[in-house]
Amino acid sequence: MQQQFAVFGNPIAHSKSPSIHQHFAQQFGLEIDYQKRLSTAEQFATDVMEFFSSGGLGCNVTVPFKEDAYAMCQTLTPPATRAKAVNTLFVNKEKQLCGHNTDGIGLVNDLLNHQLDIKARHLLVVGAGGATRGILGPIIEQQPASITLANRTYHKARNLAAEFDDLFAIHTSATEQLDVAHKPDLIINATSASLSAEVPISDISLLSKHTACYDLAYATEPTAFMQWAHNNGCDQTLDGRGMLIEQAAAAFFTWTRLQPDTAAINADFASR
Ligand code: NDP
Repeated sequence: MQQQFAVFGNPIAHSKSPSIHQHFAQQFGLEIDYQKRLSTAEQFATDVMEFFSSGGLGCNVTVPFKEDAYAMCQTLTPPATRAKAVNTLFVNKEKQLCGHNTDGIGLVNDLLNHQLDIKARHLLVVGAGGATRGILGPIIEQQPASITLANRTYHKARNLAAEFDDLFAIHTSATEQLDVAHKPDLIINATSASLSAEVPISDISLLSKHTACYDLAYATEPTAFMQWAHNNGCDQTLDGRGMLIEQAAAAFFTWTRLQPDTAAINADFASR
């Protein structure tokens, strides 16, 4: 019988996770069944338990269920504990439901794939939602020189930064009156503004030819944020497709202990 995997979300029809995981499985000659599962807030916990009790080996969790997944786990990995959100579920030898979060390591690995080593660099992270919660811990592990966390609703940035006080002194700001700790080497757009073709910041004095701009969102065309950065002189603008692939690779490894090669699928997605 094929090994069973799934991704739970709502909506879920757009998800690229099945094709990414099939690509990984082929690298190892594995035949897997990876399904998209539409769920609801009321049904999510039951759906997940049914998936595992019917032989599922591992599942991904996407919007809006990452916090629900976190809440139902009996064991959490350190990144999931920090993020208070889970995107990867599995059952351990003690039959406990375990939660992991691979979003942050996915971002860091994608940055490294693009020669963006953030050690000793100045970062501006815009947005203080679930994605930022997932990426801050792995970013801090890379030892940047500074992190400014800006958000439209300022208190959310301040509260989120406070959760990481024991690890790093994150400077916070409202996006409207943007005040950065240092001129950024890398700006990460972790807002959902691109989904409505909006740009969350407007201060072009932050940008230079050498400022890298990374949008966690992705689409077939460059996002509004990427276009804004490019039109104002930035040479390197990236979207979140590489992060999606790298977070999937980390999830695949969690379930199978097999480390997929992401170069081919990254090249394939980049050419679309
Ligand atoms: P949340 O809904 O949790 O948070 C949304 C954030 O965006 C909030 O900080 C919100 O600010 C801000 N925001 C929304 N609209 C605007 C706007 N018009 N202008 C300024 N700020 C805005 O979303 P997530 O954190 O889960 O997701 C954020 C993005 O990251 C999405 O685009 C998502 O697709 C992407 N993502 C990509 C992944 C990948 O693998 N590439 C993985 C996970 C997420 P406020 O608090 O003021 O409302």
